[in-house]
Amino acid sequence: MPITENNQINKIAVVGRGTAGSLAAASVTSKFAKTQDFELHHIYDSKIPVIGVGEGGWPTLVTQLHELTTIPHENIQMRLNATRKYGVSFEGWGKMNHNFTHFFTPQQVGYSYHLSADNITELLQEASNAQYIDAKVLSISNIEGEGGARIEFENLQAEDYDLVFDARGFPKEINQEEHISIPFIPTNTAIIRRCPSIINHNGNPYLPPTYTRAVARPHGWVFVIPLTTHTSYGYIFNRDCSDIAEVQSDFDDLLAIDGVKDFEQRSILHFPNFVHRHIYEGSIARIGNAGAFMEPLEATAIVSAQLQIGMVLQMRQNRPVEYWQGDIGAVNNFLISSMLGFGLFVGWHYSCGSNYDTEFWRFAKNKVWPQHHLMEYDGDCEKKALKKFKIMLELLKKPVVESAELDRNRILPLTSYAQISQGLGCYPMG
Ligand SMILES: Cc1cc2nc3c(=O)[nH]c(=O)nc-3n(C[C@H](O)[C@H](O)[C@H](O)COP(=O)(O)OP(=O)(O)OC[C@H]3O[C@@H](n4cnc5c(N)ncnc54)[C@H](O)[C@@H]3O)c2cc1C
Repeated sequence: MPITENNQINKIAVVGRGTAGSLAAASVTSKFAKTQDFELHHIYDSKIPVIGVGEGGWPTLVTQLHELTTIPHENIQMRLNATRKYGVSFEGWGKMNHNFTHFFTPQQVGYSYHLSADNITELLQEASNAQYIDAKVLSISNIEGEGGARIEFENLQAEDYDLVFDARGFPKEINQEEHISIPFIPTNTAIIRRCPSIINHNGNPYLPPTYTRAVARPHGWVFVIPLTTHTSYGYIFNRDCSDIAEVQSDFDDLLAIDGVKDFEQRSILHFPNFVHRHIYEGSIARIGNAGAFMEPLEATAIVSAQLQIGMVLQMRQNRPVEYWQGDIGAVNNFLISSMLGFGLFVGWHYSCGSNYDTEFWRFAKNKVWPQHHLMEYDGDCEKKALKKFKIMLELLKKPVVESAELDRNRILPLTSYAQISQGLGCYPMG
């Protein structure tokens, strides 16, 4: 239902002050400040901490942070304690017994940041023009018949808004009615350790290329993310498959191999792999970890939030009011199938196993990944995501790929599929 007659949204709320909420607040400020008056409430509960991980992005983040803040790239990099991430370097994955890199496109040119999760929210908040409200939100619901959305608070009066971005982080529970779970990804837990920095930047922006390391281990894999202030290590595994003490012990072994003597144990995080069935509902948009999540192997979360926020603002700012209602289904389906597409790309990495023939890797390869075939029998978005994934694998089999096909970016560039396929030794069969 349209909210205002003049095709404008004037009163907007963003709930959540993590990376996703801060990105939404800065994006609203940037889009709306140029064209119209608006009122932005950025709501968060200071008693509920942000997740505090999310240290690798995709190249669009570099340009977007510059556009939103208007700060020179080098200064942004310094503010974020960042290094330039040119891709992900895989160690021990697949059946080729060799290491390989998934480069961003164009290879060795396109880069993103390894960045401080705390500093990015600060940077984005400086670029936001919002009234901050520290309060616990009890519910966000559509206002029946009138359009708009209502926020109920714990100790404040309810308020109505034209548009609400819900960026409250992971849902408390995953249920079939509201969420599509992703059963073909085998991991659900992360142990995070903070280790000393391996970067010597001498107070200048650190320009040499860096890569996120994704190191296969007996119980899963470990990310290694180099920042200028510290190196972040995260062991990603399945707590139903591996004993946590064994994982900690294998983590110690890896740090010993890497020559890391000291570390700070940060957190043990349980995560769901899921997509919300209603990422976009017209007056409510669920973004960041509230909208979708899949394990961090390809760092798809911040780029997903960018896509969700960008698409919603684009539709609500540029589409005539008479299309708004009709657009909801199409936008929502596009976002869901894109998120599921990321999920398929991530799950596929496990399809050829690793150097380790352990319970985890047998479970991941033989039991979990094959479940992606069941998407064929699910809803339209699942079918669409699977179809697009298969099209990419079909293209890899072609003797010659037309340049139009190369340029057509189906969620991720064809070069990403080619690099993973060749790296894992997992060639689609003719
Ligand atoms: C192990 C791991 C590694 C990751 N690595 C990466 C990576 O390399 N790259 C990447 O892109 N992503 C990564 N992610 C994902 C990362 O978490 C997200 O990119 C990012 O932090 C987005 O979080 P968020 O803003 O959605 O939620 P959060 O950071 O959880 O923020 C939630 C906000 O909502 C507020 N809130 C919650 N409930 C209420 C309420 N009831 N009322 C009011 N306010 C409320 C909180 O106060 C908080 O401000 C990783 C995730 C995990 C688990």
